Order: sequence, then structure tokens, then C-alpha cells
Amino acid sequence: MEYVRKYRWANYLSPKCKEYLRNDFSHECAYCKLQEQEVGIAGQYIFEIDHFKPQRLKLPDVHQYHNLYYACSKCNKEKSDIWDEKLLDPCVDDIFSGDNPAIIEGTQENQYKYIAQNDKGDFYINTFKLNSRAQIRIRKARENHQKNIYTINTLIDEILLKSQNNEKLQDLGDLVSQLNILKNLHSQEMTFPKDEIFEKAEEYLTERKIESRWVFEEYNMDIKLKINDDTYYCELIVDDSDQEKTEYRKNLSMEKLRVWFQELKCNFGVLFYFTKVNRMYFYAVSNNLDLLGSSRAIKSKQIKINDRHLIS
Ligand SMILES: [Zn+2]
Repeated sequence: MEYVRKYRWANYLSPKCKEYLRNDFSHECAYCKLQEQEVGIAGQYIFEIDHFKPQRLKLPDVHQYHNLYYACSKCNKEKSDIWDEKLLDPCVDDIFSGDNPAIIEGTQENQYKYIAQNDKGDFYINTFKLNSRAQIRIRKARENHQKNIYTINTLIDEILLKSQNNEKLQDLGDLVSQLNILKNLHSQEMTFPKDEIFEKAEEYLTERKIESRWVFEEYNMDIKLKINDDTYYCELIVDDSDQEKTEYRKNLSMEKLRVWFQELKCNFGVLFYFTKVNRMYFYAVSNNLDLLGSSRAIKSKQIKINDRHLIS
């Protein structure tokens, strides 16, 4: 059990319902643990009230407080109308903590990835796409952020101790410059969920009247788009080289290609976005079955893009 509720008498129609939930859920998403402060000052506006047992079940207590959860809009959307006895309940079950958590953090090569300890953990990770690239990026940034805070606190303690002992602060300049570096890192990292590149990419597509939306899928997919009436899931590869070229070559790892071809049940491709020259190319990988090849020894496959692939 990860949250305890205090405002049990409230319900969905209570004027301060969202405010109560916000407190009970410690200002974070009940499902993915995204914190309000991690999305900046307007954080609470992208947090929503989720009905744990969805409204479609038409249960008599659906709007009662005990069925309402504070959730980020992404998790709310991913969960949508899903209901399954397997779904772990953050107000009842030990999901990430306790003696037998259903989900643990990966170590070393799987760092930042969540590892399910049982079927329910697996179902939870899949429901909320907790191992998507976007989620992993957030967890990585969170850890860096926490490390920085720890270093800042250590430096402050060091300065205070020295001044209490009336020691000469000869190296004060050093400490101050270290603090400044950390301060800059700190402000950079707090902006992480807003990915400017993604916004630019989306703008590029919108200007060309291509329907697109971000996805939080697994398999490293970032954007879903509609081209010539077909829908594709795409990975966005960003290149910030500033030379205009007429032909580009890119390597895609065989491991990635195998997963895409075997697991994805839809069309998929890659978007290459050259930010400096503001040109975007689309390569429909799923239309090229031969990319998979047969040799297991090959580590990557080169794909070539040229003006034919330009989204103009
Ligand atoms: Zn969430």
C-alpha cells in the first residue's frame, strides 16, 4: 500500500475533490509517480482525477472518493477504460515498495527499466507503458536531479562547518563555482518532460498538414502519424549536424529491427529530423521486409534516405 486516504467522506462532486486527492497522493501520479514539481509550476493542471474502476462499469460507488485517484494525464489516458482483476491498486498493493514489491528497478545494463516480479507487475508495466523511452528518460533525469541535490547539500554542509570552525575559507571560490555548475544543471533538468525537439518535430508535421501525435509506446516509438491514409508508429531520430546533404545513411540495429518486425502489430517507420537545416525524412521500415535479412551475425542494417523520403 503506497497511499493512505484522509478525505474519505468526499466524492467526485465535492468542490475540492481534486485538492484532497492531490494531498492524499503527495502531489504525484498514483501510477507512474511523476511529481507535480517535475512538470514545472503548472504541474497540477496536467494532473487529473482518475476513476480506478472505470465509469463504464456503472458501479454504484464509481464516484466515491475511494475510487478516485490522482493521476497524470498520460497515465489516465493509457489506463482509459481498462479494467482487469490483475490491475494492481496503489492504495492496496505493494507495487514499488514493501517486502514483496511487484515491480523493482533494474540494475546496471537495465538501469532505469522496471522489472516485473510477477504477472500483475507485468500487466501494470504494460498498462501504463512504464518502460517506454519517455518514462525511462524521466526516471534518468529524476535520478540525476536527486544526485545533484545531494551534492549541493554536501557542499552547503562543508561551507557551514568551515565557517563554524572559523576556518579560513580559502577554497570558498572553488565551492561557489561548483555550486554554480550544479545550479545550472539543476535548472536544465527540471524542464525535462517538455522536449523541445519533439515540439519542433510536431510543428514541422503540422505545418505540412500531417496528422501526428506523440505516443508513449514501448519499442522506442515516439510519434504516430498518418501518411497517405496509412498510420505509422515512428521512432524519431534527431541529427543536429549542420551540413545539407542530399543523401543520408543511417544504421538501425538488427536487434531493434527484429523486435519491430516481430512484435509491432502495425505499420512503422523512422523519422529522421535534421534540426539545423529543418528537414525531416520519413522511411517506412515496415514496407521493407527485406531489411530483416537472415544473417544473425549482422549487428546493424544500413538504410539510405534521399530526397524521395523528404517530407516537404
Ligand atoms: Zn502517471
